[in-house]
Amino acid sequence: AKRIRIDKLLAHMGLGTRSEIKKSVKQGKVAVDGKAVKDSGLIVDPDVHEVTYDGERVAYKEVVYLMLNKPPGVISATEDGRERTVIDLLAPEDRILDPFPVGRLDKDTVGLLLLTNDGQLAHELLSPRKHVDKTYLAQVLGDVGEKDREQFTAGVTLDDGYVTMPSELRIVSKEQRGDDIVSTISLTIKEGKFHQVKRMFESVGKKVIFLKRISMGPLQLDDNLPEGSYRELRDDEVELLR
Ligand code: URA
Repeated sequence: AKRIRIDKLLAHMGLGTRSEIKKSVKQGKVAVDGKAVKDSGLIVDPDVHEVTYDGERVAYKEVVYLMLNKPPGVISATEDGRERTVIDLLAPEDRILDPFPVGRLDKDTVGLLLLTNDGQLAHELLSPRKHVDKTYLAQVLGDVGEKDREQFTAGVTLDDGYVTMPSELRIVSKEQRGDDIVSTISLTIKEGKFHQVKRMFESVGKKVIFLKRISMGPLQLDDNLPEGSYRELRDDEVELLR
């Protein structure tokens, strides 16, 4: 049997934040098997009890939102004949609800990857019309400078002729490595073309040698999450994404 707090269940179904739901419970809007709920911490089994909100039946579907710090060497797919995928990193109990990666990171790219079974949310985050900001931290072979920043702000032409939308390049630091200069930068883009960051630097004659995504829309990679680890999103993080 499933056991879940009524406020968590209703928050998962998008009916408000937990504190909003607490209010609704106080106002007598939430009922279980026809009886008004008094305690927003009430434990219910949604397969057994009928939950209503404002008299409307709440169709329960369990959703899961996982933040993964993707390690290098795994691919952002659910299945692959030969290669290890991000799903292989999940504990068996976290695979039950069939989460899938929201968008893709290259095999060698690390950092923030959201995994969910919430198709609606995934669709909205990935919609090309929504222009959800993605911020990357990168190490680039070459001396990244003001001219690159201006070009990225204006938009650069990729190898297939596509002109990128304005993006924001910040130069964080530079170091000498043997005969080379390696620049550490952050770049915020509003699109998600195939290999976009790498191809943007190629267009200005430079090569990305390390790439890490640190944010997607309002969602920030948790600094305390080691590569290869994941955790459930907190309620406030899910709320930000909706
Ligand atoms: N841009 C890239 O080039 N690779 C990624 O994985 C993500 C963005």
